[in-house]
Amino acid sequence: MPYLIALDEGTTSARTVLYNERGERLAMESRPIASVYPQPGWVEQDPMRIWSAQMESARAVLDRTGISASALAGIGVTNQRETAIVWDRATGEPVYPAIVWQCRRTAQACAELAASHGDRITARTGLVVDPYFSASKIHWILENVPSARERARAGDLLFGTVDAWLIWKLTDGAVHATDPSNASRTMLFNIETGDWDDELLSLFDVPRSMLPRVLPSSSFIAYAAGGHLGAAVPVTGIAGDQQAALFGQACFRPGLSKNTYGTGCFCLLHTGGTRPISRNRMLATRAAEVDGAQFAMEGSVFTAGAAVQWLRDRMGLIAHASESEAIASAVSGNAGVYMVPAFAGLGAPHWDPSARGTITGITAGVTSAHIVRATLESIAYQTREIIEAMESDSGERVTELRVDGGASANNFLMQFQAGILGARIVRPADIETTALGAAYLAGLAAGVWKSTGELESFWRAGRVFEPAMSQDERERLWEGWNTAVRKCRA
Ligand code: ADP
Repeated sequence: MPYLIALDEGTTSARTVLYNERGERLAMESRPIASVYPQPGWVEQDPMRIWSAQMESARAVLDRTGISASALAGIGVTNQRETAIVWDRATGEPVYPAIVWQCRRTAQACAELAASHGDRITARTGLVVDPYFSASKIHWILENVPSARERARAGDLLFGTVDAWLIWKLTDGAVHATDPSNASRTMLFNIETGDWDDELLSLFDVPRSMLPRVLPSSSFIAYAAGGHLGAAVPVTGIAGDQQAALFGQACFRPGLSKNTYGTGCFCLLHTGGTRPISRNRMLATRAAEVDGAQFAMEGSVFTAGAAVQWLRDRMGLIAHASESEAIASAVSGNAGVYMVPAFAGLGAPHWDPSARGTITGITAGVTSAHIVRATLESIAYQTREIIEAMESDSGERVTELRVDGGASANNFLMQFQAGILGARIVRPADIETTALGAAYLAGLAAGVWKSTGELESFWRAGRVFEPAMSQDERERLWEGWNTAVRKCRA
């Protein structure tokens, strides 16, 4: 019986998940990865720890289940996106820590670039100029690490997002490769031609020789060297975490969408073989591809589950994130309270870095339960903002949303989401959709499955939330939210 493993390298941990040929999860192991914050707004990780944490979790899964690496049909890799690693081609030594996607060190440079080249960059990449993406981080490393620029020009340095780094390590430096879903987050990749873009490479002063080959997300990439897991195993899948989740949710066709409720929210709408054009500052991105280019529209909310963490760690209003469900359900409404968690500004569709968190509508009768409730509701309102922007761009009404991520476990939040969106919310039985998507990509290329049609039959709804809110109520609450957002931006 063939097995597959997904290496799921996230921001806070590296996980390895083992699946069987029915796409059922058999085991999961995880190892933590620390971030360091050398200056306010700077976020770094140790690339060697990313690698060791990933390998420890993979070996632990095989040890615990007694399944030998030779029984693995393929490895799928999925990863935190945009995070930039630059290393020496000959020694494999990183020249600087990984600059994590959250890092804002290039904010000033990006603001200047947005003013001078914003429209051209968006036209080529589908992205909005922001420190979030890899290009300005690579530029920073080449500018600030002594002699890095010369070594890069001489062809001695390599760049990779975390997928490329892991594959390079897995192949003992033999293969330097990535896929379009990751490449499209670097701001160096032309989303339409599917190749690194010479104008962008010159704008960011990044030599082409540093960049990985871009291979289809589901294809034979390389053999992982036998020394790492005990046998040579083919790597046959790669995708960035959000695109992997879209795939793991079986959103293979245009019009299907998923929303991940984690620290932030990431909503992706599959648009098929057509690049989406947004009038509402949604991003265009490459979806994971099996056979030909696939695209998605993406909107992100910066602060979602992180606001629940704030209730717990800073406000002390809850002891555990999951407790928020019962507390919010115990009051009959929001009592007119709205909370806009713009802790790090507002993302799509506002893209307002200067907005700050606000709580409005407090009266003498308001209790901490109302604040907890308003915080959960804010996640649903922000999701509606993104969905509405996507609907307006695509001209299609979203009637069903597939959800995943830690906070999707909250039934109050999911029911409120259905109501405020006026759409059915479908939570799958397995909410580890990121790893599942990577395993699907790997299994297709390894011949475990023949087509995405076969995978559709694996997808199981866990719970469905039907909208139960009246039209009046929906409009009243939505107006209240929009008023609160205006106040927060003022
Ligand atoms: P990430 O992958 O971004 O680390 P996860 O998908 O693991 O995030 O989700 C964790 C986030 O979800 C945390 O911010 C946490 O506060 C929130 N969260 C977890 N469980 C719940 C819950 N039951 N209700 C509300 N929020 C939750």
